Amino acid sequence: MRILSILLFITLVPQGPQAWKRQLKLMGSRFEITVVASDQQQANAWIDLAVKEITRIEKIISSWDAASETSEINRQAGIRPVGVSSELFDLISRCIRLSEITDGAFDISYASMDQVWKFDGSMEKMPEEAEIQKSVRKVGYRNILLDPARQTVFLKEPGMKIGFGAVGKGFAADRARKLLLQEGAPGGIINASGDMTVWGHQPDGTPWQVAITNPLDKTRSFGTLPVEDGAVVTSGNYEKFVTFNGKRYSHIIDPRTGYPVEGIASVTVFAPGAELADALSTAIFVMGIDTGLYLADQMKGVECLIVDETGKLFASEKLSIKPKE
Ligand code: ADP
Ligand code: MG
Repeated sequence: MRILSILLFITLVPQGPQAWKRQLKLMGSRFEITVVASDQQQANAWIDLAVKEITRIEKIISSWDAASETSEINRQAGIRPVGVSSELFDLISRCIRLSEITDGAFDISYASMDQVWKFDGSMEKMPEEAEIQKSVRKVGYRNILLDPARQTVFLKEPGMKIGFGAVGKGFAADRARKLLLQEGAPGGIINASGDMTVWGHQPDGTPWQVAITNPLDKTRSFGTLPVEDGAVVTSGNYEKFVTFNGKRYSHIIDPRTGYPVEGIASVTVFAPGAELADALSTAIFVMGIDTGLYLADQMKGVECLIVDETGKLFASEKLSIKPKE
């Protein structure tokens, strides 16, 4: 009887908030969603909502899904403007603004280059110079024509293509975070293959700690940083690349030359939102160390850490990392 009442006491006493996690594949990537909740049922309900939201966004922006709005824009390149949802229209507007700020280093119309550079294991030899030149002529954000009154998008040149490989995961993570905040989830993390979007606190009230991966040795991190509300996103040359004649060609393309960017191993960006952090990490990769850090220093709430191919670190002015003990 006594044991029974002790057991009953233990099960009835509220456990306090805990962090609940779920791992799954979304947008072709590994995601791990963590929420702080007092019970598992609530945690599951919140995580289900986040998964639904990310899946919904993927259906709009995916270039692989022939039924997406993005695929229709690409099919109609050089033919006619396509009416789209305000969500996609606004995302494309923000991407074009970033192209302007970065002087074309960031450009969603890089996507026609995927005819030439393929990072899915199917490339057998270095592409021909003529092929690269032919594709790069289709790249140019100035030829993405937006009509706000009709909410249409028109790619002016036949063969042009847009793709959200550099911002899609960040955009989706921001949306999921916003939704869970609205639904009352006090804290959590959306981890999209290492790109972290966090809000609130850990169950014990302390800030979440985000680790910064060392691109030259992925099993080690440079250290951790406390993050309260914001995103930490890394673009690296260590996950998607091809090697020809001992040289590594990464999946980030300089839209002005049509060639993969060289010299940088990774760019980590801290920003209030994941979409901005994601886009900037790719943009700064293309811009290079000096121009990239200069840009980060100009932007409110943005910090940046760059690792070059020799392992040397370069950081924006206000960044301080807690070294690993
Ligand atoms: P990941 O999170 O997959 O590492 P990144 O955020 O680093 O992706 O972005 C790289 C992806 O962005 C590429 O795989 C490609 O889809 C796309 N991309 C490559 N170059 C550019 C560019 N100059 N501007 C915009 N998007 C790009
Ligand atoms: Mg990016």
